[in-house]
Amino acid sequence: MAISLEQRIEETNERAKRMKENDSFFYLKSIEGSSGAHTRIEGREMLMFASYNYLGLISHPKVKEAAKKAIDEYGTGAAGVRFLAGTTRAHEELEKKIAQFKKTDDAVTYSSGYVTNLAALTTLCQRGDLLIMDKLVHASIIDGCILSGANHRSFLHNDMDSLERILAQSDGYQNKLIVIDAVYSMDGDIANLPEISRLAKKYKAKLMVDEAHSIGVIGKTGHGIEEYFGLENSVDIYMGTLSKTIPAIGGYLAGDKDLISFLKLSSRPFIFSASLPPVAVLTAKACFEVIENEPELVVQLQKNMKQFREGLQEMGYNTGNSETAIVPIMVGDEEKTLQLCKKINEEGVFICPILFPAVPRGTNRLRAHVLASHTAEDIEKALDIFKQAGKSLGII
Ligand SMILES: *Cc1c(COP(=O)(O)O)cnc(C)c1O
Repeated sequence: MAISLEQRIEETNERAKRMKENDSFFYLKSIEGSSGAHTRIEGREMLMFASYNYLGLISHPKVKEAAKKAIDEYGTGAAGVRFLAGTTRAHEELEKKIAQFKKTDDAVTYSSGYVTNLAALTTLCQRGDLLIMDKLVHASIIDGCILSGANHRSFLHNDMDSLERILAQSDGYQNKLIVIDAVYSMDGDIANLPEISRLAKKYKAKLMVDEAHSIGVIGKTGHGIEEYFGLENSVDIYMGTLSKTIPAIGGYLAGDKDLISFLKLSSRPFIFSASLPPVAVLTAKACFEVIENEPELVVQLQKNMKQFREGLQEMGYNTGNSETAIVPIMVGDEEKTLQLCKKINEEGVFICPILFPAVPRGTNRLRAHVLASHTAEDIEKALDIFKQAGKSLGII
Protein backbone atom coordinates (compact mmCIF):
# COMPACT_ATOMS: atom_id res chain seq x y z
CA MET A 1 0.00 0.00 0.00
CA ALA A 2 1.19 3.53 -0.75
CA ILE A 3 2.38 5.46 2.27
CA SER A 4 0.49 8.58 3.26
CA LEU A 5 1.56 12.09 2.39
CA GLU A 6 1.90 12.86 6.11
CA GLN A 7 4.33 9.96 6.44
CA ARG A 8 6.37 11.09 3.44
CA ILE A 9 6.56 14.63 4.78
CA GLU A 10 7.67 13.36 8.16
CA GLU A 11 10.28 10.93 6.81
CA THR A 12 11.85 13.54 4.55
CA ASN A 13 11.94 16.24 7.19
CA GLU A 14 13.24 13.81 9.82
CA ARG A 15 16.15 12.81 7.58
CA ALA A 16 17.11 16.45 7.07
CA LYS A 17 16.77 17.14 10.80
CA ARG A 18 19.07 14.24 11.71
CA MET A 19 21.64 15.48 9.19
CA LYS A 20 21.44 19.01 10.62
CA GLU A 21 21.92 17.70 14.16
CA ASN A 22 25.09 15.96 13.01
CA ASP A 23 26.32 19.08 11.20
CA SER A 24 26.00 17.03 8.03
CA PHE A 25 23.40 19.01 6.12
CA PHE A 26 25.47 20.66 3.41
CA TYR A 27 22.56 21.90 1.32
CA LEU A 28 20.73 25.24 1.03
CA LYS A 29 23.75 27.21 2.32
CA SER A 30 23.42 30.91 1.81
CA ILE A 31 26.01 32.49 -0.51
CA GLU A 32 26.88 36.13 0.08
CA GLY A 33 27.62 38.19 -3.01
CA SER A 34 28.64 36.85 -6.38
CA SER A 35 29.97 33.32 -6.57
CA GLY A 36 33.62 33.05 -7.59
CA ALA A 37 36.60 30.85 -6.68
CA HIS A 38 36.58 32.56 -3.28
CA THR A 39 33.10 33.07 -1.92
CA ARG A 40 31.58 34.11 1.42
CA ILE A 41 29.21 31.44 2.64
CA GLU A 42 27.30 32.00 5.88
CA GLY A 43 29.91 34.42 7.09
CA ARG A 44 33.01 32.40 6.16
CA GLU A 45 35.42 32.96 3.28
CA MET A 46 35.55 29.63 1.43
CA LEU A 47 37.27 28.12 -1.56
CA MET A 48 34.43 27.27 -3.93
CA PHE A 49 34.36 23.74 -5.37
CA ALA A 50 30.62 23.36 -5.87
CA SER A 51 29.74 26.00 -8.46
CA TYR A 52 28.76 25.66 -12.12
CA ASN A 53 30.45 28.98 -12.88
CA TYR A 54 33.14 27.12 -14.83
CA LEU A 55 34.58 30.06 -16.76
CA GLY A 56 33.92 32.75 -14.15
CA LEU A 57 31.48 34.57 -16.42
CA ILE A 58 29.15 35.49 -13.51
CA SER A 59 31.33 38.48 -12.76
CA HIS A 60 32.97 39.07 -16.15
CA PRO A 61 32.96 42.86 -16.85
CA LYS A 62 31.60 42.46 -20.40
CA VAL A 63 28.79 40.21 -19.19
CA LYS A 64 27.82 42.55 -16.36
CA GLU A 65 27.87 45.50 -18.74
CA ALA A 66 25.56 43.66 -21.18
CA ALA A 67 23.15 42.87 -18.34
CA LYS A 68 23.00 46.49 -17.17
CA LYS A 69 22.45 47.73 -20.72
CA ALA A 70 19.66 45.19 -21.20
CA ILE A 71 17.78 46.53 -18.16
CA ASP A 72 18.12 50.09 -19.45
CA GLU A 73 16.84 49.13 -22.87
CA TYR A 74 14.15 46.54 -22.09
CA GLY A 75 13.24 46.95 -18.41
CA THR A 76 12.85 43.86 -16.28
CA GLY A 77 10.61 41.37 -18.06
CA ALA A 78 9.25 40.38 -21.44
CA ALA A 79 5.55 40.77 -20.58
CA GLY A 80 4.22 37.71 -22.32
CA VAL A 81 4.75 34.22 -23.60
CA ARG A 82 7.08 33.85 -26.54
CA PHE A 83 4.26 32.86 -28.85
CA LEU A 84 2.28 36.07 -28.23
CA ALA A 85 3.73 39.35 -26.90
CA GLY A 86 6.92 37.97 -25.28
CA THR A 87 9.38 37.72 -28.17
CA THR A 88 11.80 40.67 -28.23
CA ARG A 89 14.64 41.42 -30.61
CA ALA A 90 16.97 40.25 -27.82
CA HIS A 91 15.44 36.75 -27.93
CA GLU A 92 15.94 36.58 -31.69
CA GLU A 93 19.54 37.75 -31.37
CA LEU A 94 20.33 35.13 -28.72
CA GLU A 95 18.80 32.30 -30.73
CA LYS A 96 20.82 33.38 -33.77
CA LYS A 97 23.96 33.48 -31.64
CA ILE A 98 23.33 29.98 -30.24
CA ALA A 99 22.69 28.58 -33.72
CA GLN A 100 25.95 30.08 -34.94
CA PHE A 101 27.84 28.77 -31.87
CA LYS A 102 26.44 25.26 -32.39
CA LYS A 103 26.71 25.45 -36.21
CA THR A 104 23.00 24.72 -36.71
CA ASP A 105 20.30 26.51 -38.74
CA ASP A 106 18.36 27.80 -35.79
CA ALA A 107 17.69 27.57 -32.05
CA VAL A 108 14.84 28.08 -29.59
CA THR A 109 15.11 29.10 -25.93
CA TYR A 110 13.01 28.17 -22.89
CA SER A 111 12.80 29.40 -19.32
CA SER A 112 15.13 26.78 -17.81
CA GLY A 113 17.23 23.79 -18.82
CA TYR A 114 14.81 21.53 -17.00
CA VAL A 115 11.87 22.92 -18.94
CA THR A 116 13.86 22.65 -22.17
CA ASN A 117 14.19 18.90 -21.77
CA LEU A 118 10.48 18.59 -20.94
CA ALA A 119 9.68 20.67 -24.04
CA ALA A 120 11.91 18.61 -26.32
CA LEU A 121 10.74 15.20 -25.23
CA THR A 122 7.04 15.98 -24.96
CA THR A 123 7.02 17.64 -28.39
CA LEU A 124 9.24 15.21 -30.28
CA CYS A 125 7.89 11.99 -28.80
CA GLN A 126 4.42 10.67 -28.18
CA ARG A 127 2.62 7.47 -27.31
CA GLY A 128 3.79 4.72 -29.64
CA ASP A 129 7.30 6.15 -30.07
CA LEU A 130 10.46 4.77 -28.47
CA LEU A 131 12.79 6.83 -26.30
CA ILE A 132 16.16 5.28 -25.54
CA MET A 133 18.22 6.83 -22.75
CA ASP A 134 21.51 6.25 -21.03
CA LYS A 135 20.86 5.00 -17.49
CA LEU A 136 22.53 8.08 -15.99
CA VAL A 137 20.84 10.89 -17.96
CA HIS A 138 19.72 13.96 -16.05
CA ALA A 139 16.48 13.90 -14.04
CA SER A 140 14.85 16.40 -16.41
CA ILE A 141 15.24 13.93 -19.30
CA ILE A 142 13.62 11.18 -17.27
CA ASP A 143 10.75 13.48 -16.29
CA GLY A 144 10.29 14.62 -19.91
CA CYS A 145 10.26 11.03 -21.02
CA ILE A 146 7.53 10.08 -18.54
CA LEU A 147 5.46 13.12 -19.48
CA SER A 148 5.74 12.33 -23.21
CA GLY A 149 3.90 9.03 -22.82
CA ALA A 150 6.39 7.32 -25.17
CA ASN A 151 7.73 3.86 -24.49
CA HIS A 152 11.19 4.01 -23.02
CA ARG A 153 14.24 1.83 -22.47
CA SER A 154 17.52 2.62 -20.71
CA PHE A 155 20.90 1.27 -21.73
CA LEU A 156 23.74 0.61 -19.29
CA HIS A 157 25.83 3.70 -18.77
CA ASN A 158 27.88 4.50 -21.88
CA ASP A 159 27.74 0.79 -22.80
CA MET A 160 27.52 0.41 -26.57
CA ASP A 161 26.59 -3.29 -26.55
CA SER A 162 23.68 -2.53 -24.28
CA LEU A 163 22.55 0.32 -26.56
CA GLU A 164 22.81 -1.83 -29.67
CA ARG A 165 20.83 -4.66 -28.06
CA ILE A 166 17.94 -2.25 -27.49
CA LEU A 167 18.19 -0.76 -30.99
CA ALA A 168 18.26 -4.21 -32.56
CA GLN A 169 14.85 -4.91 -30.97
CA SER A 170 13.29 -1.59 -32.00
CA ASP A 171 12.08 -2.46 -35.49
CA GLY A 172 8.42 -1.97 -34.72
CA TYR A 173 8.85 1.71 -33.91
CA GLN A 174 8.59 4.39 -36.55
CA ASN A 175 10.09 7.11 -34.36
CA LYS A 176 13.09 6.38 -32.19
CA LEU A 177 14.99 8.99 -30.21
CA ILE A 178 18.22 8.34 -28.33
CA VAL A 179 18.94 10.83 -25.55
CA ILE A 180 22.30 11.20 -23.83
CA ASP A 181 24.18 13.73 -21.72
CA ALA A 182 27.41 14.93 -23.34
CA VAL A 183 29.06 15.11 -19.92
CA TYR A 184 27.34 13.17 -17.14
CA SER A 185 26.41 15.56 -14.37
CA MET A 186 27.20 13.28 -11.41
CA ASP A 187 30.23 11.52 -12.90
CA GLY A 188 32.00 14.00 -15.18
CA ASP A 189 32.63 11.38 -17.87
CA ILE A 190 32.02 11.97 -21.58
CA ALA A 191 29.48 10.10 -23.73
CA ASN A 192 30.91 7.87 -26.47
CA LEU A 193 29.45 10.10 -29.18
CA PRO A 194 31.27 8.61 -32.20
CA GLU A 195 29.83 5.17 -31.53
CA ILE A 196 26.38 6.34 -30.37
CA SER A 197 26.02 8.47 -33.48
CA ARG A 198 27.06 5.56 -35.70
CA LEU A 199 24.48 3.29 -34.05
CA ALA A 200 21.78 5.97 -34.31
CA LYS A 201 22.36 6.18 -38.07
CA LYS A 202 22.54 2.43 -38.48
CA TYR A 203 19.17 1.90 -36.76
CA LYS A 204 17.55 5.10 -38.10
CA ALA A 205 17.10 6.69 -34.70
CA LYS A 206 17.40 10.42 -34.02
CA LEU A 207 19.98 11.57 -31.49
CA MET A 208 19.60 14.31 -28.87
CA VAL A 209 22.52 15.43 -26.68
CA ASP A 210 22.24 17.43 -23.45
CA GLU A 211 25.29 19.71 -23.29
CA ALA A 212 24.64 21.27 -19.86
CA HIS A 213 28.18 20.53 -18.67
CA SER A 214 30.04 20.42 -21.98
CA ILE A 215 29.61 23.96 -23.33
CA GLY A 216 32.63 26.05 -22.36
CA VAL A 217 34.24 22.99 -20.81
CA ILE A 218 35.22 20.43 -23.47
CA GLY A 219 36.51 20.84 -27.00
CA LYS A 220 39.58 22.92 -27.71
CA THR A 221 37.57 26.17 -27.77
CA GLY A 222 34.75 25.07 -25.47
CA HIS A 223 32.22 24.35 -28.22
CA GLY A 224 31.25 21.04 -26.67
CA ILE A 225 31.19 17.35 -27.42
CA GLU A 226 31.47 17.38 -31.22
CA GLU A 227 34.50 19.62 -31.08
CA TYR A 228 35.98 17.31 -28.44
CA PHE A 229 35.71 14.30 -30.78
CA GLY A 230 36.36 16.21 -34.02
CA LEU A 231 32.88 15.35 -35.34
CA GLU A 232 30.29 17.37 -37.23
CA ASN A 233 26.60 16.73 -37.92
CA SER A 234 26.56 13.68 -35.67
CA VAL A 235 23.68 15.00 -33.56
CA ASP A 236 20.08 15.89 -34.55
CA ILE A 237 19.11 17.98 -31.52
CA TYR A 238 21.50 19.88 -29.27
CA MET A 239 20.22 20.87 -25.85
CA GLY A 240 22.01 23.19 -23.46
CA THR A 241 21.34 25.30 -20.39
CA LEU A 242 21.90 28.99 -19.87
CA SER A 243 22.52 28.39 -16.18
CA LYS A 244 25.95 26.80 -15.91
CA THR A 245 28.94 27.99 -17.92
CA ILE A 246 26.47 30.57 -19.24
CA PRO A 247 25.40 32.10 -15.91
CA ALA A 248 21.96 33.51 -16.68
CA ILE A 249 18.83 31.33 -16.67
CA GLY A 250 17.14 29.33 -19.40
CA GLY A 251 17.86 26.55 -21.84
CA TYR A 252 17.98 26.03 -25.58
CA LEU A 253 17.44 23.49 -28.33
CA ALA A 254 19.40 23.88 -31.57
CA GLY A 255 18.96 21.98 -34.82
CA ASP A 256 17.68 22.22 -38.36
CA LYS A 257 15.25 24.96 -39.26
CA ASP A 258 12.13 22.85 -39.78
CA LEU A 259 12.64 21.15 -36.44
CA ILE A 260 13.10 24.44 -34.57
CA SER A 261 10.10 25.97 -36.33
CA PHE A 262 8.03 22.93 -35.31
CA LEU A 263 9.15 23.36 -31.68
CA LYS A 264 8.23 27.06 -31.73
CA LEU A 265 4.80 26.29 -33.15
CA SER A 266 3.92 23.38 -30.93
CA SER A 267 5.97 22.98 -27.74
CA ARG A 268 3.75 23.70 -24.74
CA PRO A 269 6.39 25.44 -22.56
CA PHE A 270 6.93 27.89 -25.44
CA ILE A 271 3.24 28.59 -25.81
CA PHE A 272 2.02 28.45 -22.21
CA SER A 273 4.90 29.80 -20.12
CA ALA A 274 6.33 33.33 -19.95
CA SER A 275 9.40 34.17 -22.00
CA LEU A 276 12.85 34.75 -20.53
CA PRO A 277 13.53 38.27 -19.26
CA PRO A 278 15.62 40.19 -21.81
CA VAL A 279 18.31 40.76 -19.16
CA ALA A 280 18.87 36.98 -18.94
CA VAL A 281 18.78 36.74 -22.72
CA LEU A 282 21.39 39.44 -23.33
CA THR A 283 23.54 38.16 -20.44
CA ALA A 284 23.57 34.76 -22.12
CA LYS A 285 24.40 36.25 -25.51
CA ALA A 286 27.34 38.17 -24.03
CA CYS A 287 28.61 34.95 -22.43
CA PHE A 288 28.72 33.12 -25.77
CA GLU A 289 30.66 36.07 -27.18
CA VAL A 290 33.17 36.01 -24.31
CA ILE A 291 33.76 32.26 -24.81
CA GLU A 292 34.53 32.96 -28.48
CA ASN A 293 36.67 36.03 -27.86
CA GLU A 294 38.64 34.76 -24.86
CA PRO A 295 39.58 31.15 -25.61
CA GLU A 296 42.26 31.39 -22.91
CA LEU A 297 39.51 30.93 -20.29
CA VAL A 298 38.75 27.46 -21.66
CA VAL A 299 42.46 26.63 -21.83
CA GLN A 300 42.86 27.64 -18.17
CA LEU A 301 39.82 25.60 -17.10
CA GLN A 302 41.11 22.51 -18.89
CA LYS A 303 44.53 22.93 -17.26
CA ASN A 304 42.89 23.23 -13.83
CA MET A 305 40.67 20.16 -14.41
CA LYS A 306 43.74 18.09 -15.13
CA GLN A 307 45.72 19.40 -12.15
CA PHE A 308 42.90 18.73 -9.70
CA ARG A 309 41.87 15.32 -11.03
CA GLU A 310 45.40 14.00 -11.30
CA GLY A 311 46.24 15.35 -7.85
CA LEU A 312 43.35 13.41 -6.32
CA GLN A 313 44.20 10.26 -8.27
CA GLU A 314 47.84 10.39 -7.18
CA MET A 315 46.83 10.40 -3.53
CA GLY A 316 44.63 7.36 -4.12
CA TYR A 317 41.13 8.79 -4.55
CA ASN A 318 38.74 7.13 -6.97
CA THR A 319 37.46 9.77 -9.40
CA GLY A 320 35.65 7.32 -11.68
CA ASN A 321 35.97 8.04 -15.38
CA SER A 322 35.83 11.81 -15.01
CA GLU A 323 37.62 13.80 -17.70
CA THR A 324 35.92 17.15 -17.21
CA ALA A 325 35.34 19.97 -14.72
CA ILE A 326 33.04 17.67 -12.72
CA VAL A 327 35.17 15.45 -10.52
CA PRO A 328 33.36 12.88 -8.38
CA ILE A 329 35.21 11.73 -5.28
CA MET A 330 33.76 8.27 -4.83
CA VAL A 331 33.29 7.10 -1.25
CA GLY A 332 30.40 4.60 -1.33
CA ASP A 333 29.15 4.53 2.26
CA GLU A 334 26.80 7.40 3.14
CA GLU A 335 28.12 8.02 6.64
CA LYS A 336 31.75 8.15 5.40
CA THR A 337 30.77 10.48 2.58
CA LEU A 338 29.20 12.89 5.05
CA GLN A 339 32.22 12.68 7.39
CA LEU A 340 34.58 13.48 4.54
CA CYS A 341 32.40 16.35 3.41
CA LYS A 342 32.27 17.77 6.94
CA LYS A 343 36.06 17.70 7.39
CA ILE A 344 36.67 19.34 4.04
CA ASN A 345 34.10 22.07 4.63
CA GLU A 346 35.55 22.73 8.10
CA GLU A 347 38.91 23.36 6.48
CA GLY A 348 37.38 25.98 4.18
CA VAL A 349 36.58 24.16 0.92
CA PHE A 350 32.92 24.37 -0.07
CA ILE A 351 31.83 21.08 -1.61
CA CYS A 352 28.55 19.13 -1.47
CA PRO A 353 27.82 15.42 -1.08
CA ILE A 354 25.71 13.62 -3.67
CA LEU A 355 23.77 10.81 -2.05
CA PHE A 356 21.31 8.08 -3.02
CA PRO A 357 18.71 8.51 -4.56
CA ALA A 358 20.40 11.25 -6.67
CA VAL A 359 22.99 8.58 -7.59
CA PRO A 360 22.69 4.77 -7.60
CA ARG A 361 22.66 3.11 -4.16
CA GLY A 362 26.14 2.54 -2.72
CA THR A 363 27.81 5.13 -4.98
CA ASN A 364 27.62 8.07 -2.58
CA ARG A 365 30.24 10.67 -3.36
CA LEU A 366 31.39 14.25 -3.11
CA ARG A 367 31.18 16.17 -6.34
CA ALA A 368 33.80 18.81 -7.06
CA HIS A 369 33.53 21.41 -9.79
CA VAL A 370 36.80 22.89 -11.03
CA LEU A 371 36.75 26.52 -12.13
CA ALA A 372 38.90 28.52 -14.55
CA SER A 373 39.27 31.12 -11.80
CA HIS A 374 40.98 28.70 -9.40
CA THR A 375 44.67 29.54 -9.20
CA ALA A 376 47.25 26.75 -9.11
CA GLU A 377 47.66 27.60 -5.39
CA ASP A 378 43.91 27.30 -4.76
CA ILE A 379 43.99 23.82 -6.26
CA GLU A 380 47.10 22.83 -4.29
CA LYS A 381 45.47 24.06 -1.10
CA ALA A 382 42.27 22.11 -1.80
CA LEU A 383 44.26 18.98 -2.65
CA ASP A 384 46.11 19.27 0.65
CA ILE A 385 42.84 19.47 2.54
CA PHE A 386 41.50 16.43 0.66
CA LYS A 387 44.65 14.52 1.50
CA GLN A 388 44.52 15.22 5.24
CA ALA A 389 40.79 14.50 5.44
CA GLY A 390 40.93 11.32 3.33
CA LYS A 391 43.87 9.94 5.34
CA SER A 392 42.31 10.69 8.71
CA LEU A 393 39.16 8.78 7.71
CA GLY A 394 41.04 5.91 6.06
CA ILE A 395 39.49 6.62 2.65
CA ILE A 396 42.88 6.90 0.95
C1 LIG B 1 21.53 21.28 -14.82
C2 LIG B 1 21.12 20.35 -15.84
C3 LIG B 1 19.89 20.50 -16.51
C4 LIG B 1 18.85 21.51 -16.06
O1 LIG B 1 19.24 22.81 -16.34
P1 LIG B 1 18.68 24.05 -15.49
O2 LIG B 1 19.06 25.20 -16.34
O3 LIG B 1 19.38 24.03 -14.16
O4 LIG B 1 17.21 23.88 -15.36
C5 LIG B 1 19.62 19.65 -17.55
N1 LIG B 1 20.49 18.69 -17.92
C6 LIG B 1 21.67 18.50 -17.28
C7 LIG B 1 22.59 17.42 -17.74
C8 LIG B 1 22.02 19.32 -16.23
O5 LIG B 1 23.17 19.11 -15.59
